[in-house]
Amino acid sequence: MTAFDAVTLASIFNNIICSLIGCFFLFQVSRNQAGHKRKAATYFFLCFFFLGVAFTLMMIRVWLPVSFSIFTANGLYVTTAYMMLFGFLSWFRIPVRGIHILIMVINITVIITAMLFFYLHYRSFITRVYIGGINNATLFFLCFVVCWHHRAQCGKGEKLAGAGALVCVLASLIPSLLMSVRPEPALFQVSMTITQNLGCYFVLGALLSLFLFDQIDWHYRRSVRDELTGLYNRRYFNEQLDRLLVRGSGKGCLALFDIDHFKKVNDTFGHDAGDLAVQRVAREIQESLPPGALVARYGGEEFVCFLPESDEPLARHFLEHIRQKVSDLAVETPRGSVAVTTSIGLCQVLPGTPVSQALKCADDALYQAKRAGRNTLVSAETASG
Ligand code: GH3
Ligand code: MG
Ligand code: MG
Repeated sequence: MTAFDAVTLASIFNNIICSLIGCFFLFQVSRNQAGHKRKAATYFFLCFFFLGVAFTLMMIRVWLPVSFSIFTANGLYVTTAYMMLFGFLSWFRIPVRGIHILIMVINITVIITAMLFFYLHYRSFITRVYIGGINNATLFFLCFVVCWHHRAQCGKGEKLAGAGALVCVLASLIPSLLMSVRPEPALFQVSMTITQNLGCYFVLGALLSLFLFDQIDWHYRRSVRDELTGLYNRRYFNEQLDRLLVRGSGKGCLALFDIDHFKKVNDTFGHDAGDLAVQRVAREIQESLPPGALVARYGGEEFVCFLPESDEPLARHFLEHIRQKVSDLAVETPRGSVAVTTSIGLCQVLPGTPVSQALKCADDALYQAKRAGRNTLVSAETASG
């Protein structure tokens, strides 16, 4: 074996190993997913599987009957692109239906027929390279279009996956472009090896990032949200308020809510009914505040909100409205209709006020509201740093 043969063989193995690594990691990922994400991971796994087999057949085609290798390798390359497309569709919750599979089968049949035709009638290698390259580039571009279409819901992972699809478009076209400049089989072999490597590594990284960033996002959402009400939690609220007040130049109004005599609600209607009441009050507060307001569940049956830039009369207007709406509520529960009221402590906050001081100010006002007979709103003196 010459040194050249050895290097060729090594690069073939290099690509095959990359596909196998892709299969291994995407298989592991798919086992940890559920629903549409599991389907997406399975399609991505199949994408790498078919890619590895297609590349191997393409590289060893000199030892195989030509029509057999045209048939299998090109069919598998097209299948690879469809698996990626189906993976993207599944990721964005678009179900892969029979019609999609039918289109794939028709596409593969047309491509193979066209290639066999050009091989048998014209012996034209370059035309086959063009047909395969353009067809696959179109399919990878469709993957990008799917991402682009859903750009409003795209995070970092989806953007990287979209970029991966564009790299595949490029990787599919490079051999055709090179062939149009210098139509040499050796150059084709080299360009296939390099572009396969490029696509393989980039796409594997992008697809694994897709699942990784999704997990990070999921954990982040859980860490800042309260499970029962879906509102932000206390830690997140304090961090954001600190950012707004101390590090920014923000001023505004801070309000603390506490449901009145809530122990009695639990004792009379049960804890589950109490939970429903907490959820309902949370919804009323959130829906009644203006856009830009920061709302959180502060603890048990206590809520907090910050209205940036608003002065006391404006905040009072919104909060009075909420107090009234809550007292008009009839929360339907399995053990009857629950009526609740809420006391509210309001405090106007100036820029630079420490969070603890702003909260103490609103808490004092809330305490006064409780002492004043509950179901009422009390404003405290302005808090400043
Ligand atoms: P007050 O008017 O003085 O606020 O009276 P209260 O009964 O609301 O007093 P307190 O704040 O001491 O008690 C709150 C009760 O709310 C205690 C707790 O069992 C109940 N609670 C807190 N969080 C939840 C919750 O998520 N679900 C239910 N069901 N009960 C909760
Ligand atoms: Mg309380
Ligand atoms: Mg209470």
